[in-house]
Amino acid sequence: MTLRLYNTLTREKEIFKPIKGKAVKMYTCGPTVYDFAHIGNFRAYVCSDILKRYLKYSGYKVKHVMNITDVDDKTIKGANKEEISLKDFTRKYEKAFFDDIETLNIDRADYYPRATEHVKEMTEIIKKLLKNGIAYKSEDGIYFDISKFGDYGKLSHAKLEGLEAGKRVRQDQYEKEHAHDFALWKNYDSEDGDVFWETELGKGRPGWHIECSAMSMKCLGKHFDIHAGGIDLVFPHHENEIAQSEASTRKKFANYWVHNEHLLVNGQKMSKSLGNFWTLRDLLNKNFNPKAIRYLLLSAHYRMQLNFTEESVKAAENAVQRLNDFMIRLKEIRDNIKNEEMGKLIQKTKKEFEEAMDDDINISIALSHIFEFVKETNTLIMGGKIGKNDAKEIIKLMEGFDKVLGVLVEKDEKLSQDLKKLIDEREIARNEKNFAKADEIRNQLKEKGIVLEDTKEGVRWKSTNYT
Ligand code: AMP
Ligand code: ZN
Repeated sequence: MTLRLYNTLTREKEIFKPIKGKAVKMYTCGPTVYDFAHIGNFRAYVCSDILKRYLKYSGYKVKHVMNITDVDDKTIKGANKEEISLKDFTRKYEKAFFDDIETLNIDRADYYPRATEHVKEMTEIIKKLLKNGIAYKSEDGIYFDISKFGDYGKLSHAKLEGLEAGKRVRQDQYEKEHAHDFALWKNYDSEDGDVFWETELGKGRPGWHIECSAMSMKCLGKHFDIHAGGIDLVFPHHENEIAQSEASTRKKFANYWVHNEHLLVNGQKMSKSLGNFWTLRDLLNKNFNPKAIRYLLLSAHYRMQLNFTEESVKAAENAVQRLNDFMIRLKEIRDNIKNEEMGKLIQKTKKEFEEAMDDDINISIALSHIFEFVKETNTLIMGGKIGKNDAKEIIKLMEGFDKVLGVLVEKDEKLSQDLKKLIDEREIARNEKNFAKADEIRNQLKEKGIVLEDTKEGVRWKSTNYT
């Protein structure tokens, strides 16, 4: 098993080899907590989650860090608008972010450093850059001189002639066409209100880019394995992160740069500025299942754009339901027969899944193999050709896949005693031809997320609450 990852730095699929043995150090650019994240943002976090989970599935030990940007131009603007402190403002959205990642079954990172708690580390890097003659002071702050870093542009492959060295840009977000010296430190400005730090660099606040250099290196060391984020972060954010980090340490910063493509709406990037966004809450209010939303976000290859529609969430709901129904069916098998072909089919499917995932996390191919397997096995189940021990092996296989996918029902789906009693009471009512009572119980169960199916073999139940 050899994992290959597309590295934005080299623009090639490379064999993944951690710096040290089986230990992987991974950093993902986290949320700017100035509003509720939209599901485009969550595509980035789900993609990162899938990569991390697959690394673990493959036997790596992963140390994962995701920062919280709780000070930058946007958060300060938001706090000022609401006339509350930056902390009160950002903590509200930080909490919403943690609630949302739990809802989406995104595994928690090992550390979530906050920018406001790492200003000391940021000033240390800036001091080093000043000492190395790469940063300079101007009237409104301290800037990184891009002409002094020979490798500037190596990630985004920006042509150096296009870069406008010597011209300065103060704002955190800027476009590719305007590559300038960028702000590492912003001297205090009255618009910052009460957001400032008194440091050796003077009174002011850090620029956005330096935050990720400081927090990643603090938590993972100067040189680490994977740096992930959305494709829009390649320039300027990640280009600047590399420049600041490598110019201050004179060491390579991250080995693999992994970027996910955007979630689109009608062909345009889902974004706050275009107003074409959905928050997770918007979708939950429409009663979409969170596991289906997760499935939708993970189901396309991370380097492919994905168009969001309500129909696509419905299709994802069907896919998740199919997988969960399959698990329920397997758990109900009681036959003592043994299917001699099953071992081979399981091995084949496992290999296909792993080969697809090893190929730059090609999850859409991996999923197609899983569904092919589900289809074939369902036919065997219908033909009575699967025994309970075969079923156990299949369940193990599916649970192994789900360590990566995270879309199956987690808790043991045994019916509670109360629900069992209700199903029995309905059976009695039916036998007594008291159909009104039987229907009433059926509706009662439906409200609790249990759907009944009357079959020749007797009554079967199915959970609709697969969260
Ligand atoms: P932000 O909070 O704006 O810094 O964005 C957080 C993460 O979401 C970054 O990795 C962005 O690149 C990513 N992102 C933003 N919009 C989208 C989108 N429409 N599709 C996928 N990722 C996105
Ligand atoms: Zn970042």
